[in-house]
Amino acid sequence: HEWSALRVRNTFLDYFKERGHTFVPSSSVVPLSDPTLLFTNAGMNQYKSIFLGTVDPASDFASLKRAVNSQKCIRAGGKHNDLDDVGKDSYHHTFFEMLGNWSFGDYFKQEAIGYSWELLTKVFGIDEKRLYVTYFEGADGLEPDLEAKELWTKAGVPEDHILPGNMKDNFWEMGDQGPCGPCSEIHYDLRDPEGGQYRNAAGLVNMDDPEVIEIWNNVFIQYNREPDRSLQPLPNKHVDTGMGFERLVCALQKKKSNYDTDVFTPLFKRIQEITGARDYRGKFGKDDPDGIDTAYRVVADHVRTLTFAIADGGVPNNVGRGYVVRRVLRRGARYARKYFETDIGDFFSKIVPSLVEQMGAMFPEIAKKEGDIKEILDEEEKSFAKSLDRGEQMFEKYAQKAKVRGSNDLPGDDVWRLYDTYGFPVDLTKLMAEERGLNINDNEVEEAQERAREASKGDKKATAALVKLDVHDLGALENMPEVPKTDDLAKY
Ligand code: ATP
Ligand code: MG
Ligand code: MG
Ligand code: MG
Repeated sequence: HEWSALRVRNTFLDYFKERGHTFVPSSSVVPLSDPTLLFTNAGMNQYKSIFLGTVDPASDFASLKRAVNSQKCIRAGGKHNDLDDVGKDSYHHTFFEMLGNWSFGDYFKQEAIGYSWELLTKVFGIDEKRLYVTYFEGADGLEPDLEAKELWTKAGVPEDHILPGNMKDNFWEMGDQGPCGPCSEIHYDLRDPEGGQYRNAAGLVNMDDPEVIEIWNNVFIQYNREPDRSLQPLPNKHVDTGMGFERLVCALQKKKSNYDTDVFTPLFKRIQEITGARDYRGKFGKDDPDGIDTAYRVVADHVRTLTFAIADGGVPNNVGRGYVVRRVLRRGARYARKYFETDIGDFFSKIVPSLVEQMGAMFPEIAKKEGDIKEILDEEEKSFAKSLDRGEQMFEKYAQKAKVRGSNDLPGDDVWRLYDTYGFPVDLTKLMAEERGLNINDNEVEEAQERAREASKGDKKATAALVKLDVHDLGALENMPEVPKTDDLAKY
């Protein structure tokens, strides 16, 4: 490929290095020093203290003005959870790299906008007709970001490719308080720009079309949200950007799906070697009736998440981050078992070497820890293999029973028992139910878990934490203190 993934990443990093940016290596994807965060989910995470003005004066960050990097991110739980999209769409992964450039009180909108447009259209040579940019349209007594709008025009973006965006998409806030500001997103249209089909009746592109993909977000941090909710201008303004690496590679390799790029094809090749499965055809949903393309995507996505999480110390267990890792592994193992009809026990570890070969130079931690990663994966997979078959049989029984009752609902008690006895994460059971056209009522599952909690007296505290963890989307847990890893939990 003219634009191999490796060349794309290096070109991005070099472009900003040449413009005075310091390369800062990716921080750990498991943010052990930040208990409020499940996984690193954006490039800015490691710079939080700079934005908050609490940076340690002795640290290298104290004098950092311009930075560039490619950050390892996981969005498989918490506020950002893309797990359910994986396999189903062409551009959400649970693990991905976020390319980013930062200005800490240095340059602002004009340079940031100029850099992104020049890099995309001149350096990467993307057809301008395929690009759309957005600016904050104003809300809640907030001024629209007409400055950004004008700067995009000046940078050369045609007027009808500059679109207003709302508070949800175009105003970024770190939390209830703290630094915030308007942002400009850049979207890439996968369809043929000459086709004319990208306009709706109002003459505007439909940004919600699944073939119009958000590739880059430029955040202009210029306010502070005060405790009384008012906004005060910041003395130092910052730029924080994030671009999906795999999405950029997809655009540059002129593919329709991230999975058709050399980020994923080596992994597919390896999966095929191991399983003897048919070729990957790149089909989705109903166009993939045997589910094998979907399984390729899920397994390749999950092996990346597992490898990088474990390399950074996120080992599978029953609490917090560890439980996310466990869920991802069990989900992936079940896909492999069902769709590739392969044995579970050392499946993922056989794929790891291809990933290390592909990404070990950029992220040496996965090469250094390769042995440990494979060992942990095998151990975890083997322990699940024992219950996977029996759990599937049990699920079948429950599904049959529901059918006999003439019901499309899988009772909450059954879902809970699958978890409690066979270690089936609720999201996995949901997925299986979905395949069978069965529904699961979240409230019912919660009630069943509540009853189980009531019933278990001895290790009340541990069970309570565990139950809560499994029932709710992990989002609710982001601010929960880390649960002590007691021996009580081992039996789950
Ligand atoms: P989307 O709307 O597509 O879910 P987002 O608005 O949640 O993306 P941001 O938080 O703005 O994403 O992150 C910055 C960039 O990271 C996005 O513009 C996108 O290119 C990329 N990105 C976000 N989530 C994912 C993901 N799950 N997989 C791959 N790339 C992603
Ligand atoms: Mg998102
Ligand atoms: Mg978005
Ligand atoms: Mg965004």
